[in-house]
Amino acid sequence: MIDLRSDTVTTPDESMRTAAADAAVGDDVYEEDPTVAELERRAADLVGFEDALFVPSGTMGNQIAVRVHTERGQEVLIEEESHVYKWELGGLAQHAQVQTRTIDGGERGIPSPDAIRAGYVAEDLHRPGTGLLTLENSHNSKGGIAIAPERIDAAAKTAHDLDVPGHLDGARLFNAATAHDVPAERLTREVDSVMFCLSKGLGAPVGSMLAGSESFVAEARRVRKLFGGGMRQAGIIAAPGLEALANRHRLDEDHEHARLLAEGLAAVEGLAVQEPETNIVLAETSGLGLSAAAFCGALEERGVLVSEFGETTVRFCTHLDIDREGIEQAVDAVETVAATVEEQ
Ligand SMILES: *Cc1c(COP(=O)(O)O)cnc(C)c1O
Repeated sequence: MIDLRSDTVTTPDESMRTAAADAAVGDDVYEEDPTVAELERRAADLVGFEDALFVPSGTMGNQIAVRVHTERGQEVLIEEESHVYKWELGGLAQHAQVQTRTIDGGERGIPSPDAIRAGYVAEDLHRPGTGLLTLENSHNSKGGIAIAPERIDAAAKTAHDLDVPGHLDGARLFNAATAHDVPAERLTREVDSVMFCLSKGLGAPVGSMLAGSESFVAEARRVRKLFGGGMRQAGIIAAPGLEALANRHRLDEDHEHARLLAEGLAAVEGLAVQEPETNIVLAETSGLGLSAAAFCGALEERGVLVSEFGETTVRFCTHLDIDREGIEQAVDAVETVAATVEEQ
């Protein structure tokens, strides 16, 4: 099977398994796990923050961040196609007891300064006040768009002028950094916290990092415990995470594969393909007369797995375990599906 559903499907390589087996460990709830401490140090440095926290998932990292930044009842300014809003079970309402105010991020999935100012609510007797702005880079629902550093800066600065902190969901932060050829810390310069996933393009089996100031991370550590995310000898899973950080240097290979894939798909009549900026390729299947579900089903029969991403939109995601040959096979399979539809 060629599995292009997500970059989460990678399995740990030999170096990660060895690192896990050999990891020095301790009780991380007591902050005695040296491997977790090392991972947190390295992660904080990479994104230019004072400190970082190892969390079981990206979702938990985002949810902790919202909880720490806000007070109960406040509003969170949130881009309407963002993961935190769309794909985390409305967790903000449950875990942070905040109200979301969705704002349009336009084609690039990044709210303009005007949109942020328009969405801001000042606290008074009748209004709860805005407690946080959340942003996302790369933008998953928009097709892995890599938002430029200046636009992230502008959004976060606008929020700061209103006394509102900014959190960046950087599940695929290193993909965005690779696309812009900047260090990851350039993308986080103006935000107050960032979450990035070790378990996606970087290829670790488990875990994400949440970074911010020392005081932010100290509070995040308490909230992680509250959410049931305090882990004991977590060095076993932090060690592959440390190995995974090195994979940030090879993400351009995944991006190259995505470009190749998009070229191949674009040549298939009836398929409308969005030009990729990172490792995600979105394609529209309506021109083939197929729903996304039917397209995915037909492709699966030919040994290729992709994700339904809307009624007639599918997502292909390249990653560590997909080589050039896999991309060529995927394109062949799509050509066969399209040809079969035409015959019918
Ligand atoms: C995957 C993803 C998350 C959540 O990460 P999990 O580890 O799956 O919980 C958050 N934000 C974005 C943009 C993602 O793609």
